[in-house]
Amino acid sequence: MTFSDLEIITPILKAIEDKGYKNPTPIQAEAIPTLLEGKDLLGCAQTGTGKTAAFVVPLLQKLFLTKSNKKGKRMLKALIISPTRELAIQINDNITNYSKYTGSKSIVIYGGIRQHKQTSALRNGADILVATPGRLLDLIVQGYVRLNKIEYFVLDEADQMLDMGFIHDIKKIITKLPTKRQSLFFSATMPEAIIELSKQILGSPKRVTIEPEKTTAEKVSQYLYYVSKSDKVDLLKYLINKKRKKSTLVFSRTKHGADRIVRFLKKSNIKSEAIHGNKSQNSRQKTLQRFKKNKFPVLVATDIAARGIDVSKLSLVINYDIPNVPETYIHRIGRTGRAQEVGEAITFCSSSETNFLKNIQKLINQQIQIISDHPFHNQKNIDIVEKRKNKKNKKKSRFSASKIRSAKEQGDNLKLESKKRSSKKFNFKRRFKRKKN
Ligand code: AMP
Repeated sequence: MTFSDLEIITPILKAIEDKGYKNPTPIQAEAIPTLLEGKDLLGCAQTGTGKTAAFVVPLLQKLFLTKSNKKGKRMLKALIISPTRELAIQINDNITNYSKYTGSKSIVIYGGIRQHKQTSALRNGADILVATPGRLLDLIVQGYVRLNKIEYFVLDEADQMLDMGFIHDIKKIITKLPTKRQSLFFSATMPEAIIELSKQILGSPKRVTIEPEKTTAEKVSQYLYYVSKSDKVDLLKYLINKKRKKSTLVFSRTKHGADRIVRFLKKSNIKSEAIHGNKSQNSRQKTLQRFKKNKFPVLVATDIAARGIDVSKLSLVINYDIPNVPETYIHRIGRTGRAQEVGEAITFCSSSETNFLKNIQKLINQQIQIISDHPFHNQKNIDIVEKRKNKKNKKKSRFSASKIRSAKEQGDNLKLESKKRSSKKFNFKRRFKRKKN
């Protein structure tokens, strides 16, 4: 299938051609016709699938086709909300690219910087507003933003909004929108709270799901390195020197951890920089731009800061720490192997992270290939910990099973019931513990 099969108008087709894209990605092939028909859409897809163009292209087409010739200030017709500044800027860049022959105008607003430039851009008028929730609400309250003419509303990365505590802001923003509008809702995962929120926003949407397992497993080569916690830095240095990739993204679970990694790499003469929540928005954006321009080879990031990082040809992702939420693993490795590229993702696993690893492998429905041919391989400790855990669990369940059996044999119904109850309780606790991990 080509983009022209999707009945996209020539000025946008030309802009897509300029980007060098020939065929729509699966989410684009499904979403673009649905959105051009004017339907609401519930998209379950992660970044890296081409989902931004999937909503930006039809949006620009609709704006172009309904453009009025009236002179005067432009009124906001479309609102796109994104959880992070990085992602908002990226969406706005996409709009700028795809609209270069249609003439739509967009503005991006986000917190962490002075509002003056943003408010004067708003005063001059635009067709599309891309915003993070906090700054948007702030400017609504101050009277700089009016949403009463919005015809298209996009909520991107809804699950991340929830994680970041933006849900109340979103609900407040929705009350400011006209009820007659086309709404689009994107989320990488669909937990219950997100489904509930989507019901408040969408009419009867078409649902498009792009399975994360497929997108990641097909395009990203994934490798697992067993290593003790204390050897992780040395393994990192070893791999960076061995692989000599142009751009490597390293994920750390904590901000301090990220800074520690940068300090260590500096000592080893490897240029790297960190982005995380303790850095100002401005410095995060600058670092990201420099990384994109290949000014330094290693970027160390925490999950929140890394949302929306779109570096074309990012060759390697290293999970220095395993994420405790399995879906985050998919997000992380989705930074490499974007759209049509092939990527590589390496995960370090120490003995305290085996449960996280298990959950990830369950989610992606595959065992990540273990690489043991390196100087820091340390599977022994992990095997010992695993064996101990299994033994403990087996012993406990055998213990309660034998008690139930003996109560049965003695015909002691009271004892039997009590043992069954405690066994149930034990199994429940075990399941709960497993879930928590
Ligand atoms: P997204 O999921 O929107 O963050 O897009 C992921 C990456 O794929 C970005 O670098 C896009 O520019 C790129 N991309 C989007 N659509 C296509 C396409 N049809 N073919 C190739 N690359 C694409």
